[in-house]
Amino acid sequence: MSQGKSALVIGAGLGGLALAIRLQAGGVRTTLLEKRDQPGGRAYVYHDQGFTFDAGPTVITDPTAIQALFDLAGKPMADYVELLPVSPFYRLCWEDGSYFEYGNDQDHLERQIHALEPADVDGYRRFLAYSRAVLDEGYLKLGAVPFLSFRDMLQAGPQLARLQAWRSVYAVVSRFIRHERLRQAFSFHALLVGGNPFATSSIYSLIHALEREWGVWFARGGTGALVQGLARLFQDLGGTLELNADVATFDTNAGRLTGARSHDGRQWQADAVASNADVVHTYAELLGQHPRGRQEGQRLKGKRFSNSLFVVHFGLSRAQPQLRHHTVCFGARYRDLISEIFNGPALPEDFSLYLHAPCATDPSLAPAGCSSHYVLAPVPHLGNAPVDWTVQAPLYRDRILAYLERYYIPGLRNDLVTCRTFSPLDFREQLNAHLGSAFSLEPTLTQSAWFRPHNRDAQLPNLYLVGAGTHPGAGVPGVIASAKATAGLMLEDLHP
Ligand SMILES: Cc1cc2nc3c(=O)[nH]c(=O)nc-3n(C[C@H](O)[C@H](O)[C@H](O)COP(=O)(O)OP(=O)(O)OC[C@H]3O[C@@H](n4cnc5c(N)ncnc54)[C@H](O)[C@@H]3O)c2cc1C
Repeated sequence: MSQGKSALVIGAGLGGLALAIRLQAGGVRTTLLEKRDQPGGRAYVYHDQGFTFDAGPTVITDPTAIQALFDLAGKPMADYVELLPVSPFYRLCWEDGSYFEYGNDQDHLERQIHALEPADVDGYRRFLAYSRAVLDEGYLKLGAVPFLSFRDMLQAGPQLARLQAWRSVYAVVSRFIRHERLRQAFSFHALLVGGNPFATSSIYSLIHALEREWGVWFARGGTGALVQGLARLFQDLGGTLELNADVATFDTNAGRLTGARSHDGRQWQADAVASNADVVHTYAELLGQHPRGRQEGQRLKGKRFSNSLFVVHFGLSRAQPQLRHHTVCFGARYRDLISEIFNGPALPEDFSLYLHAPCATDPSLAPAGCSSHYVLAPVPHLGNAPVDWTVQAPLYRDRILAYLERYYIPGLRNDLVTCRTFSPLDFREQLNAHLGSAFSLEPTLTQSAWFRPHNRDAQLPNLYLVGAGTHPGAGVPGVIASAKATAGLMLEDLHP
């Protein structure tokens, strides 16, 4: 182990944190530079009048990937973070008051499926078997393999063909399941990683098996507690975390990166640099003074980007025992609404929502007798719908809260203690996200694996990517797997 080698990781999102832990545990002196005043990135946390609001990820799947980081570091995970099981995983609701409770109890699932469409019980079993096969091939075997050459892609070709990866998630679900609501129930998962269920490769139906295999979890104290646990683990290993370090540019010399500089003039040198920041920002801005940055930044701007999100965080003076931890509120339209969310050209009139009620699992996130929540609406990104969010945000917020009050939380506006919003504009301004996309490049087949920006740059040999914009893609398990793929390359390159 050569203690002399050093690395910079730009951005302390979950992918950046996981990579920094892997590098530091692997003997590389690692400095993690984060623009904002807290680590976490999309998993930022707001505290307001005794309420704790996780800004982003709340559905934690594949706890084994998180456990692996602690194992690698030789530290007991229990000393840093506690994961609580969430049951049911989700309640999926429709406007007529009907709902489907989706969890890990096969009998309960099958009884609910039978009540809607008896033939779909067998179809669901076959879909689950398919989803498990994809999990095995697409996630367990290929998730943390860096696709650096087209040959790697060709090698995966036969498996992808066998799994019919060219079909969409919805098309594959529909081959097994007839009832429209069940088709929605087993295809909406693609949205969790920024995929359009009608366009995203059926490979993403593996999320269903991922949840069935290892369950759905929530960190005690919120996802922010997981972020804090990972940040502490990194620092306990001897890593350096610098907050309020807004990187402006990379330094290069003779075809290699030599370090980075912040807007306030600080400078860091390192043998290798990994970016967890948005991929367009990384190439077009941070590497914008280098021909490679300009060329790759331009190329990436031509790609399809995932939708954005409009998020309302709100605290209520009353507990909401009628709510499950995770609720998906389907609106009247599914296919057409999703098409407008992914293609624009305007903000749709109606919405489908995800409602977070974490006090169902951990009441400590709100003052006694109160409840903390967020609700998110998928919306087009700024390139697909040029909405003036400075005007629209309060109007859209009010429409969403009125809708929730009507269908899910009676008396909501009367009980409102605190409320804040996060719009596509905030994704762009605060997170440097190209077009305000919430999940980076859209996970279509032609933007996945080798077709996604690579974990190591093709021209600058000591520039690496980690996080949603590189392989395998967005979502907590995705970015943690990307850290494994990227760390493997970096440790090999730094310790030949
Ligand atoms: C509202 C919401 C809900 C979600 N829910 C779920 C969920 O329930 N389950 C799930 O699995 N996934 C969920 N996701 C997706 C998941 O949160 C993301 O895919 C994942 O967290 C992204 O991690 P990342 O490593 O790509 O980094 P990011 O979180 O994107 O972090 C990148 C970091 O880089 C920093 N940065 C950017 N530019 C610079 C710079 N120039 N200098 C220094 N630092 C910089 C940013 O400030 C940020 O901290 C959700 C996403 C959102 C937005």
